[in-house]
Amino acid sequence: MPSVYEYSKDELAELLVGEPRYRVDQVWHGLWTEGQAIEGITTIPKALRARLTERFPASLEVANDVESDHGATRKWVFRLFDGATIETVLMGYEDRVTVCVSSQAGCAMGCTFCATGQAGFTRHLSAGEVLEQVMFAARAAAPRRLSNVVFMGMGEPLANYLVTMDVVKRLHEYRGLSARHITVSTVGVAPAIERMAKTGLPLTLAVSLHSANNESRSELVPLNRRYPLERLHDACLYWMNTTGRRLSFEWALIDGVNDRESDLDELARYASSLRAHVNLIPLNPTPGYLVRGSSSQRVHDFREGLVARGINATVRNTRGRSIDAACGQLAAVTNARHKSIPVRPG
Ligand code: SAH
Ligand code: SF4
Repeated sequence: MPSVYEYSKDELAELLVGEPRYRVDQVWHGLWTEGQAIEGITTIPKALRARLTERFPASLEVANDVESDHGATRKWVFRLFDGATIETVLMGYEDRVTVCVSSQAGCAMGCTFCATGQAGFTRHLSAGEVLEQVMFAARAAAPRRLSNVVFMGMGEPLANYLVTMDVVKRLHEYRGLSARHITVSTVGVAPAIERMAKTGLPLTLAVSLHSANNESRSELVPLNRRYPLERLHDACLYWMNTTGRRLSFEWALIDGVNDRESDLDELARYASSLRAHVNLIPLNPTPGYLVRGSSSQRVHDFREGLVARGINATVRNTRGRSIDAACGQLAAVTNARHKSIPVRPG
């Protein structure tokens, strides 16, 4: 399926040969600056809109559209051309508007506590399919401007490395979105973290750690058998030294599994050697994993324990839980410190 978002400006110009030269600028501006769908670019003639729409049919069909948190969180389930489904979540805050995108339909990593992991892998998304999620959300957010993109929806973005980087580059170059405002969340594909560091893009990196003990991490995150904590540590260090950027660890607190004093000690040791920030998320329950998230008291105490050990730690709230947002992953992108405000005006 071709997506107009996979075209460079020169490629678009080739497509529009025969049209006045300024049409290229109009279409480009409509697509990237205004985030319009082709039908919405009213500066160009209707016939041209129709021709372009025929060539680039919308690749996202809305299969479901729900909101929660009094309109501050909105989730779409999109059906793709081949029937695969993905999720995209838009979150409004006082100071920013963030979209959480999927990078794959399903995921092959098989993390036990994750709904996407439980469902398995369907396929990689194309750059166009990821960019269209961003642009769809940008339109829904208007008149507020979409300010942040996080790869925390379905899939492992670094397992779809080339597409993820292509999306980042296009958002940066064509949309003017700073790489700092784009967060790549990874389960810890060590060589890909290093490869990404070498691009020199000042992206925000979040590593889903969940355990700082090889035995228990391998249970939660099977990829740990391939890239154990020592290897992941090397990659994180390389990231910091190469990009000059800090990173953060995501830690979904699971009752009796990774919220004990020993877990606290192991995490503090691991995080402090990398001067990493820790984001604590109470586990969102999923059907395939019969344990509970830690109690709010335990979450609070765990954070205090980290702070007492000199670690920078925040607790994230579970935004969108009522709409089962992003397969229970949404918690990871939501920060309790920021006030939620509706993404839909009025
Ligand atoms: N594959 C990437 C990005 C998508 S998952 C990754 O794993 O980082 C986004 C985040 O949601 C990750 O931090 C993941 O660990 C977290 N997550 C997955 N299932 C969850 C659940 N049931 N409760 C809380 N967080 C969850
Ligand atoms: Fe995949 Fe991330 Fe879920 Fe693990 S947590 S299965 S890597 S989406």
